[in-house]
Amino acid sequence: MHVYLDYNATAPLRPEARAAMLAALEAPGNAMSVHGPGRAARASIEKARRQVAAAVGAQADDVIFTGGGTEANTLALRGALQAASAAGERITRLIVSAVEHDSIRATAAACGESVAGLRVLTAPVTRTGKLDLAEFKRLLDEGKGRALVSLMAANNETGVIQPVAEAAAIAKAHHALVHCDAVQALGKTPVNIAGLSADYVSFSAHKIGGPQGVGALIVRQGAPLAPQMLGGGQEFGRRAGTHNVAAIAAFGAAVEAATHALPTSAARTELERRLKAACMDAEIFGEAEHRLANTICIASPTIPSENMVIALDLDGFAVSAGAACSSGKVTQSHVLTAMGVAPQVAASAIRVSFGWNTQEQELSAFADAWSRIVKRAQARAA
Ligand code: PLP
Repeated sequence: MHVYLDYNATAPLRPEARAAMLAALEAPGNAMSVHGPGRAARASIEKARRQVAAAVGAQADDVIFTGGGTEANTLALRGALQAASAAGERITRLIVSAVEHDSIRATAAACGESVAGLRVLTAPVTRTGKLDLAEFKRLLDEGKGRALVSLMAANNETGVIQPVAEAAAIAKAHHALVHCDAVQALGKTPVNIAGLSADYVSFSAHKIGGPQGVGALIVRQGAPLAPQMLGGGQEFGRRAGTHNVAAIAAFGAAVEAATHALPTSAARTELERRLKAACMDAEIFGEAEHRLANTICIASPTIPSENMVIALDLDGFAVSAGAACSSGKVTQSHVLTAMGVAPQVAASAIRVSFGWNTQEQELSAFADAWSRIVKRAQARAA
């Protein structure tokens, strides 16, 4: 048996997405060609565009398909900064929260180095992992010039849902541009573009049961955006490059399926109850906050994350140690650090994330395995 509980890293492909992908792979067209096969490819991209837009309450014309969430985030930050500068309206501050995904943190840092006059500021989170709105407002109040703000809708490690609508309203009152990384929120909690008052919103297909390597940036009409890929004029000139038709079609099918019925937190609550009953010292990060229904970040004090991940893997359960990063190396989580979690506690944190194809008995078997491993470690330590 292998039980996959790492949906926040990537989710298994949904059958609807696979079917759409295979159908598109069978067709030869380039979506920019004017002939029949080209028009058919174009039609499947436009269908996916409508599906993505409808799922999040956006206009179809505002959807730009990208090569994933990282590219959408990069396009938003670099695209906004460059376009504003080209229009003679320099952005002087880029404000990101302390718990953003590395694609935002690294891009923000790189922009801070390369964009003249730009300061990168980090907005802190509370001990429960939620953006500190008072501190965020203070950062906006203090500086001069226009700000660009980038905030995630839900955190990938803790699942904590961020007060993005409130933060965006504060930012808008300061005439800031607002980007929201909604990669982990989509399909897990309602995402409504109209209610968010963000200028840019990022999504990724593989977190919701679509294929890897495709995503979207939604750009509000009139928001400044300089394209980062130039060439064939695809995506209304905002993201050049031959469309990955099959992946885009599958993204459309996945988003429709994923947002049709959102998960409730009943399974997570029951799993947490069982884990805490087995180990009273266990700490669930962000427990007091409104969190994604599929995510638990938990530390059992006696077992380092890597050992726990390996022990669970040997028992047939795939979870991750904090955020599983590209090289597979486990470094201390910047999210838990920002929450003020002591390093020795953070070093024991694992992330359990489940989703559309997880069965109740799999979560129950996981609770048994985790409890066994913890009890074994406790007995050894006694
Ligand atoms: N933003 C968040 C919050 C994420 O969790 C991830 C993926 O882990 C990304 C962005 C990057 O998305 P992608 O893997 O599609 O590049």
